[in-house]
Amino acid sequence: KHAAKIRLDSVKQDTDKDKDKADRATSEQVLDQRTRMILLQMINRGVVSEVHGAISTGKEANVYGAVTYDDKTGDTIQRAIKVYKTAILVFKDRERYITGEHRFKGGFDKGNNRKMVKLWAEKEFRNLRRIHNAGIPSPEPLSLKLHVLAMSFLGDKKGWAYPRLRDAVLDGDDVEKQWSDLYIQLLGIMRRIYQVCRLVHADLSEYNILYHDGKLYIIDVSQSVEPDHPRSLEFLRMDIKNVGDFFRRKGVDTLTDRMIFNFITA
Ligand code: ADP
Ligand code: MN
Repeated sequence: KHAAKIRLDSVKQDTDKDKDKADRATSEQVLDQRTRMILLQMINRGVVSEVHGAISTGKEANVYGAVTYDDKTGDTIQRAIKVYKTAILVFKDRERYITGEHRFKGGFDKGNNRKMVKLWAEKEFRNLRRIHNAGIPSPEPLSLKLHVLAMSFLGDKKGWAYPRLRDAVLDGDDVEKQWSDLYIQLLGIMRRIYQVCRLVHADLSEYNILYHDGKLYIIDVSQSVEPDHPRSLEFLRMDIKNVGDFFRRKGVDTLTDRMIFNFITA
């Protein structure tokens, strides 16, 4: 048996230069006791064996790299752990995604941060499960405890995460065609999320899509809502606009937002 460790002082992999200093400061913070307890429980249950440094530090959550050992082969398997921050005000902003969701009838208890963050992690876990089960390339949700979510890692065996679509570098002599193919691929994914998963991503952009080897992976689905949410179509239009804006900047001859809306919802 390998010794379990939590190593949170290790080097950050994130090289994102446009992250501000405030973000960096929070990343250096040590995880609180409750979070460390949950990570230890996950280690005991074999979900992960080691937790490493932050892949990403955001306003609402940090994502850590982790590995687990395959007892049969002795191989290490990469994992990702998303830890929602409990001491935050940004969650006020998120109420609009919860209000009107029949899956969350209780709504937000704004006086209780921990409860709110737990609800948020739960939402991501359930949405991710639906999306992953529908065969859409995405992380596989593995384990959820309070505000800590373990999922499969999208990256290589050495622990390097796939780049966000925003940072993807395409090469070859048919780059234009590759972008256009990715655009079509994404429209298919958006339709599938709507038609098969009965969800609207609601924060879809080049920041929440990872790219590897011609393939797109959907991440960050905590705010996704069902079509019966009173603002779901407004969120869908926003997603469509973000996607269109991005691919237009890449020189793709995009369809009109209206055509895409009809394609996705018809
Ligand atoms: P946030 O709420 O901070 O935007 P995300 O879910 O978008 O959280 O994750 C932040 C970043 O962490 C992503 O842009 C991606 O680079 C990385 N990341 C998230 N999940 C995974 C995963 N399963 N595998 C690899 N990298 C991931
Ligand atoms: Mn994100």
